[in-house]
Amino acid sequence: MEKIAFYRKYRPQNFDHLVGQDHVRQTLLNALREKRTVHAYIFAGPRGTGKTSTARLIAKALNCIALTEKMEPCNECDLCIGINEGRLIDLVEIDAASNRGIDEMRDLIEKINFAPTRAKNKIYIIDEAHMLTKEAFNALLKTLEEPPPYVYFILCTTEPHKIPETIISRCQRFDFKRIDSRTIMARLSYIAQLEKIEVEDKAIEAIAKNAEGGLRDAIGLMEQLMIDKKLTFERVKEMLGISGNENIDEFYKFLETGDASNALQFIQTLYKEGYDLPQFSRELLEVLREKLIAAVSENKTDAINRLMAMTDFFQNALDKFKNAVIPQLPLEIAVIELCGYKKEFAAAGAQTTAEPTVAAKKIESKKAAAAVPDESSCELVELNITNINARWPRIVEHLKTPTLKQSFRNSRPSALKGNTLTLEFKSRFYMDEMMTVAHLAEMEKAFYDIFNKKVRIKGVLQKIEIAPVITVEAPAEAPTKTGAQGVAEFFGGEVVEE
Ligand SMILES: [Zn+2]
Repeated sequence: MEKIAFYRKYRPQNFDHLVGQDHVRQTLLNALREKRTVHAYIFAGPRGTGKTSTARLIAKALNCIALTEKMEPCNECDLCIGINEGRLIDLVEIDAASNRGIDEMRDLIEKINFAPTRAKNKIYIIDEAHMLTKEAFNALLKTLEEPPPYVYFILCTTEPHKIPETIISRCQRFDFKRIDSRTIMARLSYIAQLEKIEVEDKAIEAIAKNAEGGLRDAIGLMEQLMIDKKLTFERVKEMLGISGNENIDEFYKFLETGDASNALQFIQTLYKEGYDLPQFSRELLEVLREKLIAAVSENKTDAINRLMAMTDFFQNALDKFKNAVIPQLPLEIAVIELCGYKKEFAAAGAQTTAEPTVAAKKIESKKAAAAVPDESSCELVELNITNINARWPRIVEHLKTPTLKQSFRNSRPSALKGNTLTLEFKSRFYMDEMMTVAHLAEMEKAFYDIFNKKVRIKGVLQKIEIAPVITVEAPAEAPTKTGAQGVAEFFGGEVVEE
């Protein structure tokens, strides 16, 4: 027996089986019931979301001689069977990608004037319709203006913006959505069950996520990746270069605790084991996004700040893969920056002790505030705004809490009056993060370590977007004072001296 690809075999044969496009199904069924179908439709949407399958369903519904009460095709009459088997002459499917010119269109239009041979109605499905040439569209337009009563056009496209407005205005448009991964998983499980394929849930989940809303691709992948009626996560992982949730979880834990050394080791292992690092980054971003959404809904400011920073760094990493000389470098840089290193090295130069002790341990901010100064803090310098700016990276280095470091990096010292230092923040998120009592104490200790003076900190929101001070290359340069004018509002950052 001829082997039929799963996606063909499991194409929806009635509207009820159309997956993930409820709005389309409902509207079309209503139109059929109320005899309000139009002669030209545009089905727009990503690939593999059911556009041509739906077009075929309409073809059946418009021709079936025994429609059910729910307006479903019977799938038993000659016409239904003819369409299911792809041999009904009155259903014409054209791939505009390969038949895009005026000649093909003329040819098609000439035949339109002949009444249907066997069916009630002639249906023309034009796939990838946006590929038609301008002349072909013009020829089509004339037919759309006055179609014979038995002719129906369904234009399917992944790029509706490329279809002329004149055409669109004569069609009823349906937008097909990406199918969510849960729906795809359910469909894959259903097919696996009927085909007696032994599948691991995680394998199906990975395929569904990878398909980006396209059911056809997901079904195709499942068929392609199974071996001897078995589909394992191991195999999917290997073939798609994906890393799996435990890996992401493990990596996330390193990030959360600022454990740069283990995070870097982890990336190295991924690389050695042949994982696709951009793909890993995409999966990581997806997980971060989910966590971020959860943190926002629970109003957890700390977590939101941390996750925003992570998302930022790894989105940057993802953008850099294309030009990366060393494949793992973008991820490594993201880790190092996130854990609060790189920029400090650059600015502080040789005097920095590169020991990653800070990142290796998760230290509660309160404990950090109470801890004794480490050896690197023995040099003491005069407290003035020039020195504060010059020592900024070193001060950041003295902070223990990763989120606090992140906030610090998104602020700049703008003025020092007496012992009160004003910091300008790019966003309220970062300012709020800084202005907790524990964090202020931690910061003051950092200042104390370096300047041997108590410094009070006051935060203000910066009005004008400026580059974070951390990018200043020459540490000895005097700071600019532009920020003071840009003060938007004062935040109660006064702290009682210990
Ligand atoms: Zn039928």
